[in-house]
Amino acid sequence: MTASLHPDTVAVHGGRSDLEGLGVHALPIDLSTTNPLPDIERGGDSYEAMATGGRPPADGSMVYARLWNPTVARFEEALAELEHAEAAVAFASGMAAMTAVILAHTGATGARHVVAVRPLYGGTDHLLGSGLLGVETTYCHPDEVAAAVRPDTGLVVVETPANPTLDIADIADVVRQAGTVPVVVDNTFATPVLQNPIDLGAAMSLHSATKYLGGHSDVVGGFVATSRTDLAEHLSFTQNAVGAVPGPFDCYLAMRGVKTLAVRMDRHCRNARAVVEALSAHPAVRTVYYPGLADHPGHDVAARQMDDFGGMVSFTCQGGPEAARRVAAATRVFTLAESLGAVESLIEHPGAMTHAAAVGSALEVPDDLLRLSVGIESADDLVADLTAALDAASDAPVAPSAG
Ligand code: PLP
Repeated sequence: MTASLHPDTVAVHGGRSDLEGLGVHALPIDLSTTNPLPDIERGGDSYEAMATGGRPPADGSMVYARLWNPTVARFEEALAELEHAEAAVAFASGMAAMTAVILAHTGATGARHVVAVRPLYGGTDHLLGSGLLGVETTYCHPDEVAAAVRPDTGLVVVETPANPTLDIADIADVVRQAGTVPVVVDNTFATPVLQNPIDLGAAMSLHSATKYLGGHSDVVGGFVATSRTDLAEHLSFTQNAVGAVPGPFDCYLAMRGVKTLAVRMDRHCRNARAVVEALSAHPAVRTVYYPGLADHPGHDVAARQMDDFGGMVSFTCQGGPEAARRVAAATRVFTLAESLGAVESLIEHPGAMTHAAAVGSALEVPDDLLRLSVGIESADDLVADLTAALDAASDAPVAPSAG
């Protein structure tokens, strides 16, 4: 596969470079945790490679599954191609990926400081604030990165679009401000189909594969893509050393999801536009947060750095927190649930659910905010479902049915 292929083609065909010799079409799942070795040295070579941050000799023979596994390796190959990167390292979850990135850029490097651009996914905030990794974090807005960077800063973390208010950060500008400090972009909301942070100068693009990449609410995973060999080695070392590896079956499932990523994103984006139009026109809605709206503060940057605006939409309710809770409880096609990025539409109340831990802090989100993960169902059904829930929750007169 070459980088010149369209992302739609890469999504379908990525990670297949070793399949020809195997004489199979569908991707195999290699579950064995160990294999017979040709000689004693073969095992030693792999451990030595791991100790120096390299990969064990990838000659198709597997020594021990935490060190190297063909199914995991195919997943990593596909993800690197999608992210226009030289390498990708897969992890057991998005949070395992973030932990490895922070460890690889602080800990052994002597750096103790991380700059975190707000807003960020609550779990990332929690990890940085927990003290678990022994780092000090300075939080800032996207245009304050240069001022926040210190001599002991090892990493800048930014998420765009960001959870849950769809804030947009200008990736190229954050990279410029960070100078020599590596920038990791959490690209979960955009996916590599809509945004490629490495093309914009970021050192790493990180994902929760649990979301759009898997796409079917049935697999937890994460990965980091990078074009810097030193970072790839660091991350591989951390992946092995802390044992944050994904299982082969999970990689198979996520890779199966990736095959339809481009068509799903197309539908997610189209449906989100229809939902945004309906919400914007509804009297029970106060503000709609969607980077595709011309009056969204990040619209111009999003239009420049993304190919489309994604499937995530948030909004606040005229009737306040109680109305928001009634809407979340009243939808039928949108399921009340956490997570995002799957084929089915989800609704959640960040203040009481994903961001509940932030209440009372600088990260608190409005209590009348609802977040939608717009799925790939019929746009008409999604709009009708939301409209009915908003009508009912706001006691607004219900429009007469057409038939
Ligand atoms: N990044 C973002 C933007 C997320 O929304 C999430 C999870 O919701 C994560 C990272 C963490 O991913 P995981 O749940 O796979 O650990």
